[in-house]
Amino acid sequence: MLRPTLTLAVLSLSLPLAAQEAAPEAAKAPTAAETNAFVNATLRADQAAMKAHVMFLASDAMKGRDAGSNEYEIAAQYVAAQFYAAGLKPAGVDGSYLQPVPLLSFRPADKGTLTVTRSGASPVTLIFGEDYIPGGNPEKLSTVIDAGVVFAGYGIVAPQYKRDDYQGVDVRGKIVAIFSGAPGGFDGEERAHFGSNANKAVIAASKGAVGVIVLESPSSAKVRPFSRMTEIWDEWRMTWADAQGNGHIPAKGTPAIASLSVKGADKLFGADKGWAAAKKAAEAGKPIVAPFASSATLAAALKTERKIVTSSNVAGIIPGSDPKLKDEVVVLSAHLDHVGVGKADAKGDTLHNGAMDNAMGIASLIEEAKRFQASGKPPRRSIMFLAVTAEEKGLIGADYFAHNPTVPKANLVANVNLDMPVITYKFEDMIAFGAARSTLGPIVARATAAVGVGVGKDPMPEQGFFVRSDHYRFVQQGIPSVFLWPGMAGVGGEAFNRFLATRYHRPSDEISNPEIKWDQGVRFIEANYAIAREIADADARPAWNKGDFFGVLYNGYGAK
Ligand SMILES: [Zn+2]
Repeated sequence: MLRPTLTLAVLSLSLPLAAQEAAPEAAKAPTAAETNAFVNATLRADQAAMKAHVMFLASDAMKGRDAGSNEYEIAAQYVAAQFYAAGLKPAGVDGSYLQPVPLLSFRPADKGTLTVTRSGASPVTLIFGEDYIPGGNPEKLSTVIDAGVVFAGYGIVAPQYKRDDYQGVDVRGKIVAIFSGAPGGFDGEERAHFGSNANKAVIAASKGAVGVIVLESPSSAKVRPFSRMTEIWDEWRMTWADAQGNGHIPAKGTPAIASLSVKGADKLFGADKGWAAAKKAAEAGKPIVAPFASSATLAAALKTERKIVTSSNVAGIIPGSDPKLKDEVVVLSAHLDHVGVGKADAKGDTLHNGAMDNAMGIASLIEEAKRFQASGKPPRRSIMFLAVTAEEKGLIGADYFAHNPTVPKANLVANVNLDMPVITYKFEDMIAFGAARSTLGPIVARATAAVGVGVGKDPMPEQGFFVRSDHYRFVQQGIPSVFLWPGMAGVGGEAFNRFLATRYHRPSDEISNPEIKWDQGVRFIEANYAIAREIADADARPAWNKGDFFGVLYNGYGAK
């Protein structure tokens, strides 16, 4: 499960080398408790099978399965071998189970220059750290832009809310400046979607803008001072490389040039009619802030540093049995990477084992594959089992696959994602993110009944979980998707929150967690097997509900 902001994820990866090297654990002999766990004969065979995968994948030897690391590749080989044992056919490239993903890391190579020019006044050079921090542009090593600037409110266009922050302004060939975040009036998943800078840049690009500037909003200035951003301005970020070796961004040709502080924005827009009103409206929490074309032009020169490392997605497939349906592919996905070696906890442990996040999801994926094999009855549609890399770096491996699938893209009909099922309690319901958006909803409801539970409501819509794991990359390609968790009924909520507060993205997310209940892991597998089985065997192909927000936005099957 991805951290809510990339900023934080990047922070945890940027420790000094000395801290990373302090990992004395690797050579330690197992404790009595660990040995006991190893020989625990009380587990049923299906529980032991699940646990066995987690033992390997979340072991200290895997060093947290950081995408791009050698340990991650060993984990990928393990999954490939398990896919083979489960009877899956290779579905990577060149007849193998692997799909190499070129992960491209990038960051600003220098502080760059930003100059504001206005006729009749002398040019103003913005000050690094005080007025702005530069963005990195993965598409190019050198970015030079000199253009007029248009302020476009929060940069949101949402016809279903009759909202267009670009109303009355023409941004063709211009730099668009927008406030960060989303104003009030959007909830949950849509809020997370509209608040994303990447999604805003896509809108700016579609309108012909040549670059985007993100402005500190008066409210974001209160929550996170601009000075915090100056501490992390040169951290590495990640995307994937295209065939030419350039970094993919969703808003092709419209890079994020810089972030400006309130002070920097005053220097850019101070002389413009409209800016004072815009600031006032934002400060008052008004959802709509009127756009305007600035009388200034902005010249930006930025350099970007890049490096590429290859990391593998792992893919296996069960060919469908129905001559009419077998070309359609249902993708079951789970991320194999975790966050690697990081900050030491109170015990001096630096290894982020990622047992729940997401060795548990991979174990479920493998065991689901085995259930298909054991059933002796192949599914009517084909089912692909996909373990992806670099989820923790921004859903990168899934995005690469969704753009470059190893089967024709038009054949992908559904995605069911497994990420961080917290199996520390006997769950009484399940949560199915995205279920209400497509015909996958009723399927999920029937399938969870198979393990004796119903589907509960999203308990934390403000967290935007629907856009924080790999299924979101399939959604963005128009593919109906669903993502399941054990639910929050009964003791669930408390147990889940305890996991988030004490173990999530910490070295303590380990197999030694005494709260893990393997019988609940098996129930989770059974529910997901029932879901996959029904999607693959149903007469009708999964479809978005008519008019669904994401379905319409990404032109998905059935939405329009
Ligand atoms: Zn995570």
